[in-house]
This record gives sequence, structure tokens and C-alpha cells, in this order.
Amino acid sequence: MKTFYITTPIYYINGKPSIGHAYTAIAADILARYHRMLGEEVMFQTGTDENSQKNVEAAKERDVKEYLDEMAALWERTFDSLGLTHNRFIRTTEVAHYNSVEKFWKTVESKGDIYLGSYEGLYCQGCEAFVNESDLVDDQCPHHKKVPKTIKENNYFFRLTKYRDDLLAYIDEHPDFIQPEARRNEVLSYVRNFMTDISISRETMNWGIPVPGDEKHRVYVWFDALINYLSGVGYVDDTTAFEKWWPANLHLVGKDIIKFHCALWPAMLMSAGLPLPKNVFAHGFFTIDGQKMSKSLGNTVDPVEMAEKYGNDVLRYFLFREIPFGGDGDFSEARLVGRYNTDLANELGNLVNRVLTMTEKYTNGTVPEVADGFLAGAWPSYHLALEENRLSDALDIVWGLIRQANQFIDQQQPWQLAKLEEKKMLNDTLYVLLETLRHIAWMLYPFMPTTAEKMFVQLGLETPKEFSQSFESAWVWGELKSGHKLAKGEPLFPRKE
Ligand SMILES: [Zn+2]
Repeated sequence: MKTFYITTPIYYINGKPSIGHAYTAIAADILARYHRMLGEEVMFQTGTDENSQKNVEAAKERDVKEYLDEMAALWERTFDSLGLTHNRFIRTTEVAHYNSVEKFWKTVESKGDIYLGSYEGLYCQGCEAFVNESDLVDDQCPHHKKVPKTIKENNYFFRLTKYRDDLLAYIDEHPDFIQPEARRNEVLSYVRNFMTDISISRETMNWGIPVPGDEKHRVYVWFDALINYLSGVGYVDDTTAFEKWWPANLHLVGKDIIKFHCALWPAMLMSAGLPLPKNVFAHGFFTIDGQKMSKSLGNTVDPVEMAEKYGNDVLRYFLFREIPFGGDGDFSEARLVGRYNTDLANELGNLVNRVLTMTEKYTNGTVPEVADGFLAGAWPSYHLALEENRLSDALDIVWGLIRQANQFIDQQQPWQLAKLEEKKMLNDTLYVLLETLRHIAWMLYPFMPTTAEKMFVQLGLETPKEFSQSFESAWVWGELKSGHKLAKGEPLFPRKE
């Protein structure tokens, strides 16, 4: 069986999940569901980054582990309530992860890739990274609007520069490794011109994984965090699982952490003698009503609140229709409501309602004889879009079909055909519409699972909860059998103000 291993970054849990965190996780869920739909065995991993000093500060006087347990549970609950289907929620305070980091460190050390040095530089706590003076705007980190601290320490260093040529060659030979293209160029420029050896331990911290053999140092949180992608699939405790899942097919990341994932991480893996992930895909950021999302502006969006108000499917639809995945965009509740009314209520909801009402009226809710339809190239373009992580393009293809079906009704005017007693043409028209709805439901499934299931129920079909290898037959035209009984239900998307 073909496998597909997809990850999100692990999240700092010094606050509750924002819409930005949910965005990456929902994208991963869409792709995980899509690959399950293809009949593949999927590992979808997300989780929490718990070894950062930021978390210690957020815990204040409380016991840090107790605080982290509470926050990790909150994050996991949030992801569950958003309907995410991750199979693994990893926490970097797990024993398996600690042991993985230790094993990884020792492996890299045995290659001669770790050395002790001293470092003086500017450190941004928000980024958990040393920053260059040239990165600053008005002496502040542009991401965190804070003046970085000057740190002078004896640290362990990873010989990142030793892998410069190998990295450049690898990126060159694997055009799909880093996507989109703009991010690939950014990484190439960094690796060629700016990459230096990187400090991978901290002397001054009292939280985090101790450096093997020198316990007064703690492992740098990024070096530790990246290893989660290995520890979650058995790197240290389950060789069979590890061989099955590694290398990952896809790391989804935000564009701000591309250097860690496309320079440091592959170099670490090269040093450890492990294969590299097949694809790292960086998505963009979005503003809220045209403004940068920030706690001080009070314009943060709570994904759970949005989902409770509009439903998970509507939130998922809006995020991935409105914002081209990989680019930047804007989130606006007013536009979400707008798209709800036009795309979902008027176009999709109305189509389903019209087709089922007409079938009830003209054929007693029974599927007529099979007739030829207009699906044409929709599936191949849909698959290609999702293989290339073009989520909004896939939705555009589905909406193309929905509009075509609505136009087909206006063109054929089934009510006229009924009046004229054109029975064959009426039945053919209804069949084409019903079968098109079935295909639309499948295409929507990764994006809007609840809606798809409701459509299946209304079409009198079983819901796609369990996927089997015979699944592809479901996409063949004509699978909706004549004589089959429909079960018309409530409108999918009642209009909202
Ligand atoms: Zn920063």
C-alpha cells in the first residue's frame, strides 16, 4: 500500500491557537484526507514544541510541565474540535522524543559535525534564533517588534557550512523539494551567500533537552524541534514504523521558517545519513481586514469561534478558496459571509436542492437510466492541483462543475421538458445532474467532509468513512445506479445575513 506522511510544524503553546496555526493544520488535514481518498495509508502528524524558553516564561510561577500539559491538551482539543484527522499529536517533552534527540545528536557528533565554540550575537527570543543586524528594522526584529538581546556564550556548533555544496546540488537536482518557487530562490540565496555554522546549544537555559555528555548545556530548540518529524514515527523505538514512514512526503510550513526546514534540517539529515523529505511547502501569511494580525490591535481571530459560528466546513472552504495556498492573503469575516451566500448557499446549496426537488417531483425520488455527462477533464485537473498543493485551484475546478451544472438546468429547463412530456430528455437531464452531484461530493470530501457526507446521504449513498482500494471505481461516470432511491434532506447552506 502506498504511504503518505505529512506534517505541520510543531507549535509553541505559550498561547491558544490562532487562525494562523489552524490554517496550516487544516491544509494538512485536507491533503491527508485527499491521500486517504486515493487509498493510501496516511500518517498526519502535528504537535507541540515544548522545550522553548518562551513556554517557561508563559508558565510564570507555575510548574512548567503542569502548564505544558494543560496547554497541550487545549491545543489537541482545539484541533479535534476543528475536525482534524491527525494520527499523531507529538509533544517534544515525550520520552521518545528526548531519546530521539539524544540518538540524533550522538550520530551527528560521531560524524565530527559538532564542535565547541564561543558565540556573541543578537538573539530574538520570539524567533528563538540568532539574527543578523541586517535583518533588523529600526533595531527591532521585524517579526516580533522587539530589540534582540546580545548574547555571549560558549556553545556547541553544527557544521552547517560543510553541507553547503551538497545542499545546493540537492536543491538543484530536486526542483520539487522546496515550493513555491519564490521560497526556493530565497533558500538558494541564503545557502549560497549567508549560511554559517549554527549554534545548537544554550548554556544559560534551565529548560529543554540536556546536551548528551555535557548536561549544563541544553539543545537549541530548533535543532530539537526539527527532530520531531523523526521521533513521531519511531526513529528511536520502532524501526519497522520508521522505515515505513520516513522520509516524509510533505512538510507544510509557514514562509517564516523556511530556512530551518530547507537548509538546517536537510543538512542535519545528511549528517545523520538519513534521506531527505520529498517536499517542503511554505504557505504565506494573511492579514485580518487588511491589517497585520496582532494581540495589541485586538484583531486576532479565534478559529474555534469562527467554526462555531459558521461551521468547520465553511471556515475550511473560505480559507482555501479565498487565499491561494502558498501566497499571502487577507481574512475578512464580511467576505466569508459573502462567499457563504454566493458560493455555498446560491451555487452549491441551491444546486443540490434543485436537483433533488426535481427528482422527487418528476421520478418519485428514483435515479433514472444512466446517461452521458459533462465531467470531462475535471478529475485529472483536480488530482494534478492537489498533487501540486494548489488547494484553491482544486476548489476552482469543483466550482466550475457546480456552475456548469446550474447552467445545464437553466439550459435544459426540466420543468418545460416535463410539461412537454419529453420523458427521455427529462430523465437524461436528471441523471446527469445527480451523477455530477455525486462526483462533486467526492471532490469536496477533503475540503468539506461534513458537507460531502450530507450530500452522500441525500443521494442515498453510504458515506465515505472507510476507504478501500476499490475506491477509484467510485469516480467512474455511471456509478450511480438506475432505480436507486434518494433521501432529500434539509438545505445544506441556509442564507445568512
Ligand atoms: Zn523575532
